[in-house]
Amino acid sequence: MSPSESLPVASPDGVRAPAGGSVLASRLCPVCRTAPIHARQEVRSGRCRAARSRQRKAEARRQRDAEIRALLEAALEKLREHR
Ligand SMILES: [Zn+2]
Repeated sequence: MSPSESLPVASPDGVRAPAGGSVLASRLCPVCRTAPIHARQEVRSGRCRAARSRQRKAEARRQRDAEIRALLEAALEKLREHR
């Protein structure tokens, strides 16, 4: 990785892929949403990959928390029923 590669490049406002343009680089990186990626790329760089991994872990934890909360609430309801 070259030093210049690690600096995020600010994209000009309102830049969009032109309609009917080239298929190549027509998608933006789903993580940083600033850099175009090639058809076979999932993300732009290792940094984006790491960021996506963090996002997925956070999402998984949120889902687990929601599940636990639902179970606890169901348990509390059961406890109240039997009083
Ligand atoms: Zn990215």
